[in-house]
Amino acid sequence: MLKETLLKLLSIPGPSGYESACADYIEAEVKPFVDATARDVMGNLICTKKGRGGKRIMLTAHMDEIGFVVTAIEDKGFLRVTTLGGVNPKVTLASHVVMKSGAPGVLFQESGSEGQLFIDVGASCREEAEQLAQVGDWAAVRGVISDMGNRVAAPYLDDRSGCAVLMEVLRNLPDTDNEIVAVFTTQEEVGCRGAQTAGYAVDPDMAIALDVTIAGDIPRASETNSYVVSRLGQGAAVKIMDRGIIAHPDVVQAMEDAARKAGVSWQREVLTGGATDVGAIHKGRGGVPSGTLSIPCRYVHAPCEMVDLRDMEGAVRILTAIL
Ligand SMILES: [Zn+2]
Repeated sequence: MLKETLLKLLSIPGPSGYESACADYIEAEVKPFVDATARDVMGNLICTKKGRGGKRIMLTAHMDEIGFVVTAIEDKGFLRVTTLGGVNPKVTLASHVVMKSGAPGVLFQESGSEGQLFIDVGASCREEAEQLAQVGDWAAVRGVISDMGNRVAAPYLDDRSGCAVLMEVLRNLPDTDNEIVAVFTTQEEVGCRGAQTAGYAVDPDMAIALDVTIAGDIPRASETNSYVVSRLGQGAAVKIMDRGIIAHPDVVQAMEDAARKAGVSWQREVLTGGATDVGAIHKGRGGVPSGTLSIPCRYVHAPCEMVDLRDMEGAVRILTAIL
């Protein structure tokens, strides 16, 4: 079920700010397992399972992925674009993309320059291009989705893998006194904007984000540069810190206790760049004890991100044991 859900999620483009198609799919799937679902102003999908006087636990996974927005259409029919989130031109260059209109395109770089990306939608002039895209339209990478058995490679694994884990948790909610609020957030890649307002509105006693982290266990030229963060297939990663949060010690403890209780392997993660939704949530109101459970992912923000389904299954079991 986890893989099936993940593959479906990977087939729905949703760059930051344009997550509604993804939210539609998730809402339809999880509705039978929760007491209420709602969308807020930011487009967050908030799914609530009522409690019986316990704590209110907020879990998040972001629906958006990095992408592009058209800034201008040139006389020769090329589209100029800006980026949504942390696009790395070096690894995204020469990708197939899909436009908001559904039209296909390819992403390439100006000749003789560094980094200026454009999209070619196959139009021979401005008028032709305008049939396929307007200024302000989004574009998303359209990559191959490779089912490798225990592993999957595709774009959008950041953070559809987290969404798939959270959906699986909702399908298997334990009988608990705690109120569970699962929020599928928007606009994480442009600065955790959806999570910021959702965190305020939900006002949780504890928050845990589900997101990918770097799995740097790949061949490298220099052995001195051996910083790997996490390893694929070694279990979900309990985040100690990143650039957005120093995880609350009680939440770290709760996750590690839960992993022991569930009998699944896990690893610790210290990330020296990047942040997740709880970076915004933990600073809300009077402060929220928060942490992140990470899914190790190779090639983050490339069109060939790779995760291991066993790490994701472990994450489901750890979270279920906490609730
Ligand atoms: Zn992410």
